[in-house]
Amino acid sequence: MSSVDVTPRSEITNKRGAYLIGYSKGFAKTCLAVHVAAQLTACALLWYHTNLSTVYAIPLGWIAGVLLADFASGMAHFHLDNYGFIDYVTAKMPGLPFIAQYVAHHDFPDLILSYDYWTTNSDGLYATCITMTLTSLACLFYDIHNGFSEWSAFMIFALSSLQMMFFMNSQTNQFHYWSHQLNPPIFVRWLQKAGILLTFEEHRRHHIDPKTCYCISSGILNPFLEKIGWWGFLNTVFTAIIGEDKIKQQSNAEFRVERVKQWERELGVVSATSLGSKKTQ
Ligand SMILES: [Zn+2]
Ligand SMILES: [Zn+2]
Repeated sequence: MSSVDVTPRSEITNKRGAYLIGYSKGFAKTCLAVHVAAQLTACALLWYHTNLSTVYAIPLGWIAGVLLADFASGMAHFHLDNYGFIDYVTAKMPGLPFIAQYVAHHDFPDLILSYDYWTTNSDGLYATCITMTLTSLACLFYDIHNGFSEWSAFMIFALSSLQMMFFMNSQTNQFHYWSHQLNPPIFVRWLQKAGILLTFEEHRRHHIDPKTCYCISSGILNPFLEKIGWWGFLNTVFTAIIGEDKIKQQSNAEFRVERVKQWERELGVVSATSLGSKKTQ
């Protein structure tokens, strides 16, 4: 069977790009502004409530936040790769273009490099502006209810870990984007070498074997989760629940080609294969 990717990259990009940009840039920028405001509120609360005896909880919380963000990115990625494509119709629904992005990513991995910052990160900015705002509001209400009384080290740890997790997840697709670049910016390469951001080599393992290495924030948890067989365990659970082994389907090349064609039909996109043979437009 011929490969689906027979069309020049730019043509595929143009045809699909219109669908993949599910949010306007203005909306994505608003989400980022709301997220930043919620982060600053959280910083102000931490500043107000932290003293010398509890300040240690903040760096511990940030470390936990990096790990939590990596785990959350892996769980979301696992779902979207293997289960999120079930309902192609959802890809057409406003607010859910990220499913379409994940559907396309394994068939057109480097398509991500044609997106700008706002397109790449729109879903992460959208999701985390809600979760970060709710977190800061919950802390504010807690404070008002308790008369701005002292916070325990655990409370400070909890807020700083959530703050870091939502920040990392707001940029996870950007970290993913950089892991596809052969020559990312120097400061990114430094962070990748330090193990804080996903590296090209680490993420390549997922594209070679899509049954593993789902974490795409820092990738720190990938070796551990692989060692304990986490993704296989999850798939066993889901297979038992829905009665189908979706990961097995994913590894079937013909199934993947059919999946792309069905996706194109649903979205009204000109088929990549017919584009390749007809050279339309
Ligand atoms: Zn994937
Ligand atoms: Zn990728």
